[in-house]
Amino acid sequence: MNQEVTKWVDYIQPTKAGSVKIYQAEAKVPVALTSEEEEKVIAELKALLKAEDAVLVAHYYTDPRIQALAEETGGCVADSLEMARFGRDAKAQTLVVAGVRFMGETAKILSPEKRVLMADLDATCSLDLGCPEEEFSQFCDQYSDRTVVVYANTSAKVKARADWVVTSAIGLDIVRELDRAGEKIIWGPDKHLGHYIQEQTGADMILWQGSCIVHDEFKADSLALFRKEHPDAAVLAHPESPASVLAQADVIGSTSQLIKAAQASTSERFIVATDRGIFYKMQQAVPHKELLIAPTAGESATCKSCAMCPWMAMNSLAKLRDALKLGSNEIKVDEAIRVGAVKSLNRMLDFSEKMSVNVQASGDLLQDQRLFQHVGPA
Ligand code: SF4
Repeated sequence: MNQEVTKWVDYIQPTKAGSVKIYQAEAKVPVALTSEEEEKVIAELKALLKAEDAVLVAHYYTDPRIQALAEETGGCVADSLEMARFGRDAKAQTLVVAGVRFMGETAKILSPEKRVLMADLDATCSLDLGCPEEEFSQFCDQYSDRTVVVYANTSAKVKARADWVVTSAIGLDIVRELDRAGEKIIWGPDKHLGHYIQEQTGADMILWQGSCIVHDEFKADSLALFRKEHPDAAVLAHPESPASVLAQADVIGSTSQLIKAAQASTSERFIVATDRGIFYKMQQAVPHKELLIAPTAGESATCKSCAMCPWMAMNSLAKLRDALKLGSNEIKVDEAIRVGAVKSLNRMLDFSEKMSVNVQASGDLLQDQRLFQHVGPA
């Protein structure tokens, strides 16, 4: 049990000279269990969750069987911010976070008194990897007059270096507000998301050149051909995708908002440009509609991610069971760093509460395009 296949994944990191360098990182993807093994592990996990006063908090991009178990046992399936909020407000004293490391760290930053366990502490993210704190800090120091705004997909140290952390429904609103106040911005780490926000707000932003290996791989040319094959399909895209892909989208939004948009739309078929893990919840929301994954750079062996995050895939039922059984893979965040990071996270949460952002989809894609332009990624 717990056999793994190692996958090497390329990711980018900006250099001091202004170009980008390609690095490689490892993802250890567990081999699937037999159905008998799976049933046994699920039963063990359910018993452990009760015995350990624990709750399973899963991201939309994790294995559907993990998402189903989180739902069945009173946990949650959500985007990264909602995962952290759920964890913070949960009565359970142990949070079992199924996702990638920065999600576990965010949960710990907001809930320092709770025990946060993960399936694998090496489950990372190309945005987090491509934005090391030291280099990012030096980059920020060059523009000391600018406000530092970072996306949630960053380490606790980068969050502590930032003035604001943004995610989901609030990213555009915060940048727009900062722009109105005359503030110039440093944005990190996702260049596509930064470009999208810059375009929508007109804010003065200097962008760190990171990218998500999953969304960066959606290709505009292939998408255009795919749309011709499926002329009735509406395109739903996550704004970590390249601008040329977003230009073809009917709705641009976070994971949660894309699910809502599919539900509210009159379209019967969707081409979806985000990690295919979202199909579990999206199909639940629209059981009779057809979901197609947007084309990536290659097929099977030649694509980097094939629209499936290899680090999210490091989460398995067996590894979650082991973490809870042994109390292993606990997330620890240095208190001084946590105190710095919680300030920038709380700024966003306070702003969000003041704004009371409440986006409702209408079903009219043109109208929703305008509506969701205020919605950032998860
Ligand atoms: S899907 Fe992209 S942004 Fe999300 S964890 Fe994987 S690499 Fe990071």
